[in-house]
This record gives sequence, structure tokens and C-alpha cells, in this order.
Amino acid sequence: MTMYESVQGFFDQAATRLGLEDAMRQVLLTPFREVAVQVRVPMDDGTLQVFPGWRIQHNGARGPFKGGLRFHPKSNRDEFRTFAALMTWKCALLDIPYGGGKGGIACDPKQMSPGEVERLCRAFIEAIDPVIGPDLDIPAPDVNTSGREMAWMYDEYSKVHGDSPGIVTGKPIAVGGSLGREQATGRGGLYCLDRIAQSRGWTREKIRVAVEGYGNAGSWFSILAAQLGYRIVSASDTKGAIYNPEGIDPVALLQHKRDTTTVAEYKYADAIPPEDVIALDCEVVVPAALEESIRTDNADRIRGNLVLEVANYPTTPEADTIMAGRGVTVVPDILASAGGVVVSYLEWAQNKQRERWSEERVNARLKELMEASTDAVLARAHEGGVTQREAAYEIAIERVAAAERVRGWR
Ligand code: GLU
Repeated sequence: MTMYESVQGFFDQAATRLGLEDAMRQVLLTPFREVAVQVRVPMDDGTLQVFPGWRIQHNGARGPFKGGLRFHPKSNRDEFRTFAALMTWKCALLDIPYGGGKGGIACDPKQMSPGEVERLCRAFIEAIDPVIGPDLDIPAPDVNTSGREMAWMYDEYSKVHGDSPGIVTGKPIAVGGSLGREQATGRGGLYCLDRIAQSRGWTREKIRVAVEGYGNAGSWFSILAAQLGYRIVSASDTKGAIYNPEGIDPVALLQHKRDTTTVAEYKYADAIPPEDVIALDCEVVVPAALEESIRTDNADRIRGNLVLEVANYPTTPEADTIMAGRGVTVVPDILASAGGVVVSYLEWAQNKQRERWSEERVNARLKELMEASTDAVLARAHEGGVTQREAAYEIAIERVAAAERVRGWR
């Protein structure tokens, strides 16, 4: 089964429970539009390299397509289809006025010079120009892309179309980026966790959290969670993992990672095998890395009673079933990872009005949207006797289907 088929299993089950008609299922099962392009890059050594790139637009019934761009050697069309669909559900669940899209390039930016990456970004924007726009499709950062890449893309698009800050989000502050956007995915995950902790009567100081992945989402989540009182006991990245049951200082750990490129060998914690992070004695496990880190072969090792999916698609459907059977609550990615796109929306809204909001205002709105969606998911899961993922998909699918219907989708 491909990754796309797996994720569409989540959709299919919810669609069946909702009694969604066949035609609507067909509309929502496949992407609205897929664009595959050549990305031609003159390399520093004088050669030309051609990288494959994609932009997949899953559904646009609720607004412009929205979603990140990923640069990764293993990236492919199936992966982008998967994430484009997740963006449709994520934006609908958070009730922000967007459809879902995703894209990127199969390349290894870590092996490229800044000049090569800049030419890659500019060539990609030129190639997908006909299908993007501030009211059509708005890319953003994702794995291996950040404000730097967004600034080049904004600049390239604006050369042709006039100044267009709303063409991408996640931009640097100097060119219309929003305060709070960099921290937003981690902060959104934390607001969601904190709401659930409140509903369960948990004391933050007693909650031990293991974080898998220490990139943008994982590191900001850890820093902000520790500020609130949660105890971060473990963190990992592709090069190693560390554990200290007394708690780790996430700011010092990030500094160590900046200095050495990895969390491994941080001196105030013990080294552990990265695959053990999810199996530690703790209350909350936070997958914040790449897809499919919790699978059939390791789902039964989880000892925490809550999994907070700050990554996109970290849990396979089979692993989801195993965890549900063992009483582990999974807070689904389309909720727990939505903070990034929520603040992208706030950035885009500021750009449209040529406004600048304070960070307090941004964070307050993020909190409001995250808490409202978390409450809606908890209530629906409770009333329907379904998992949080099932509840989240139901809410999202209903909203997208309603938009399709009133627009006259046939
Ligand atoms: N890449 C992020 C995500 O997966 C953010 C997307 C956006 O801001 O448009 O949600």
C-alpha cells in the first residue's frame, strides 16, 4: 500500500461513518490538480542539474490551496499527495479559509551551496508560476525549507507579478513575515496538549515528555513546554538520542545542537538508541520528525498514555489501531501540527491588509483557534465514542463537503 492509500484509509473510514455519497468521496479521494515540473539549476561547478519538483493541489472548496514545500532526497509525488490531503483536513478542522496543497523538490539541499539553493528556489517558482498566486495557492516552509527560501520565492514571484507578499508564508520578518511564525508549529502543539492536560486535571510539573525529532517543531515545542512547567526527558534527531529522567534544558540542548549539528553527546543526559525514545517511561510521546515513526513493529512499545502528533503522518493506520487497543490516546496530526498553518494564515491576513500585528496578538489568536478545535475534537470523540483522529476527520470532512455543496460542486 502506498503512503497516500494509507492516509486515505483515515478519510475512507470517516466518510463511511458520515454516510458520504459516492460522488463526493471521489471528489475528495483524489487531488484536484497535480503539477510535475523540471527544476533546472546551474550548479557552482558549471554543470546543469535537473531536479524533479511537484505541486499537488488536493482540494480548494474552502479557499486557496495552502501548504508547505519540502526539499528532501526521498520526496516523491505519492508523499506530496499524502500531505496535500492532510492540509485540506488540517485547514478545515482549524476553520481557516484554505484548501490543501503540498509540494517540493526531490533534492538534497544539505549538499548544495546557498547560491545553488537560491537558484533552485527561483527556478521552481518560475516553473509552478501558472498554478500559484496569493488567492490561488500559497506555499510555505516545511522540511528543509525556512524563511530564507521563502524570501527568494517571494522575490522571484514579485519580479513578474509586482510586490506580492501574500504569495508565500513563513517569510522573514523583514519582508512581511509574522512575529511568532517560526515558533508556531511547536506552540500550537503545546496549546493543544495543555488543553487536554487541563481537561484531564493533570499537573504540568508531573508530566514527563519524550520528543522525537529536534528540528523547528520539536525544539520550539520543547522550549515552550518547559517554560510552562512540563518536563522534557528525552529528545532525538537523525544522529542520536538523549535521555534524562530529571529533565533536560531545551534551550541549552538547542544551543548544543547548533554547535555540533546534533542533540547526541549533550553532556547533561545519557545517550540512548533513537528508536527507544518512544518507548521511555513517560506520560506524553511527541513525534515531531518525519512520517511513519510509529508503525506495527514499534507501536506496542509506547508506554506513555498520550501521543501528540506534531509531525505530519507519524503514525501508520495499523499502529493507530494497536495504540487504540492499548488505551493510548493519539492526538492527531491534523490537530496537533496545525499551529504552523494557522500562523501562516495570520501572516497572510496581515500581508493582505499591509498590517503588522504584535507577537502577543498573533499568539492569542493562535491559542484561540487551537483551543476551539481541540475542544471540538474532544467533544466529538466523547459523544461519538470514536478516537480523536476519527472525530477530527469527521469534522474536517463535513466542512469541506459542505463547502463543495453550497458552491454547486456538480
Ligand atoms: N508545512 C506546514 C504544515 O505541514 C505549514 C504549512 C503552511 O504554513 O502553509 O502544516
